[in-house]
Amino acid sequence: MVDLYGLIGRGITHSFSSEYFNDKFRREGIAADYRNFDIDDISRLIHIVKSYPRLSGLNVTSPYKREVIPFLDSLSPEAESLNAVNVIRIHRTGDSFKLYGFNTDSPGFGMTLPALLSKDVTNLQSKKTRPFQALILGTGGAASAVGLALTKISIPYKTVSRGKNGDLRYCDLPSLISDYRLIINATPVGMYPHTEEAPDIPYDLLRPDHICYDLIYNPSQTLFLKKAAAMGAATANGLQMLLNQAELAWQIWKE
Ligand code: NAP
Repeated sequence: MVDLYGLIGRGITHSFSSEYFNDKFRREGIAADYRNFDIDDISRLIHIVKSYPRLSGLNVTSPYKREVIPFLDSLSPEAESLNAVNVIRIHRTGDSFKLYGFNTDSPGFGMTLPALLSKDVTNLQSKKTRPFQALILGTGGAASAVGLALTKISIPYKTVSRGKNGDLRYCDLPSLISDYRLIINATPVGMYPHTEEAPDIPYDLLRPDHICYDLIYNPSQTLFLKKAAAMGAATANGLQMLLNQAELAWQIWKE
């Protein structure tokens, strides 16, 4: 009997996770399967856990990251603080089970920072006159996860919103973008198939000491990253964060 893992969400047309995990299981000789559970109501979760006794862990995607919380027995500190769950560990004893919720967005992002900022470490420590600070574009779940990771390594940040949800609005950026060396796109703007779109920031004010990070991984180089690179800024996309999250989920399930 092989273990089963899966993804719950709605309208899952393709899934990075099922490809990633089935490939990993094959490559590493792990006796397990991974499948998608496309559900139209989160209350189906309990039925699924009962119907698949070999199911040991789940990823959770849109629109259930928040809605799933009332069905869980406990939350990790990150999930609690972000009020969102994207990984569930299923712990079974006989016919009963407990569901534990985790959030890997923040550590998945945080793990990418040392390599990205390594050349800035000296600056980070000695920037008395011009502190290293970040701008996060967007105010959704991904933006909160990024903010949590930045707080953990003491990088101050401001969020940018189209409305009143953030610290700043896009029209504020021309006068202050040079004070923020790390700019993170945590909006879906530029994601496939809308690859001709880019967040509304003053790209002409970017310089080679800016680092522009897009959480989007499809396409691998968004228009945001292309415009930043054209000004000489360093760039990074969301692929490593995604891969980190998959391995973090695996560690959580195997604990
Ligand atoms: P979301 O909730 O749909 O949107 C995030 C924020 O983006 C919104 O709160 C909104 O902020 C802003 N926004 C939305 N549509 C916009 C538009 N047309 N123009 C300008 N701003 C817009 O998304 P999310 O779940 O936080 O995820 C954000 C992005 O991160 C997505 O592209 C997602 O794929 C990516 N992501 C990647 C990873 C990874 O592992 N690489 C993990 C998580 C998320 P305001 O209303 O305040 O402007």
